[in-house]
Amino acid sequence: MQNHKQLRNWLDEFKLEHPIVIAGPCSAETEEQVLDIAHQLKNSDVSIYRAGIWKPRTRPGGFEGVGAIGLKWLQKAKSESGLLMAVEVATAAHVKLALEHDIDVLWIGARTTVNPFAVQEIADALQDTDKIVLVKNPVNPDLALWLGGVERLYKAGIKKLGVIHRGFSTYEKTKYRNIPEWQIAIELQSRFPDLPLICDPSHITGKRDMIQEIAQQALDLNYDGLMIETHNNPDEAWSDAAQQVTPERLKQILDDLRIRQLTT
Ligand code: PEP
Ligand code: MN
Repeated sequence: MQNHKQLRNWLDEFKLEHPIVIAGPCSAETEEQVLDIAHQLKNSDVSIYRAGIWKPRTRPGGFEGVGAIGLKWLQKAKSESGLLMAVEVATAAHVKLALEHDIDVLWIGARTTVNPFAVQEIADALQDTDKIVLVKNPVNPDLALWLGGVERLYKAGIKKLGVIHRGFSTYEKTKYRNIPEWQIAIELQSRFPDLPLICDPSHITGKRDMIQEIAQQALDLNYDGLMIETHNNPDEAWSDAAQQVTPERLKQILDDLRIRQLTT
């Protein structure tokens, strides 16, 4: 049975709404883009702003992120919008820079969760932090790797820990970019009932038209939050263009969701 004690602590401490909504572009591209999106998302149901600045690309040649300069843009976005800031970290050096720039939420990406050495390095760099740390599922449908990531972070004394379900890759083509395999996330939660569970319908679907449906399924399964990639000009985005939504569309998606109240 899910236990919402930790979730309630986060909601109180950071003044977050339930379900927690994390939104923002797949990648920070320019300072203007980061600030424009943050301004469009402030005073909405969004409480955490996401933007990737170090982008792990499966194949070389794609946009690999703006790097550390993006942290300055996020600091500015935070002071102008009041939103909490979240970035993906994949190395100890990323963690150090993110902490120096007062990033509030650090997440470990799917291509990093598969690598125990990398997760351990990040866990050591985060030792005893009071920041929120979120672990995405590994790219492959392997519950043990996901559990292992969570265990390494708990052992490093990280108390504000949560997980993000972004689906799993398959060789076969399906209607999803990454198949949900909901039972894997549910099983992980049954092992750690205190872990807030966030769904990332953007990377599960790969298509903006399917996001509403998957977000609703997640809430019907009692997920605690959603991470939805949101861009001011999705079709021209430098990464993951097909799955990003505009801030207006995000608002519509959130308004149309049926939300359950927390009962525990
Ligand atoms: C992302 O959040 O933009 C990302 C790279 O996601 P994932 O690690 O789930 O592929
Ligand atoms: Mn993305």
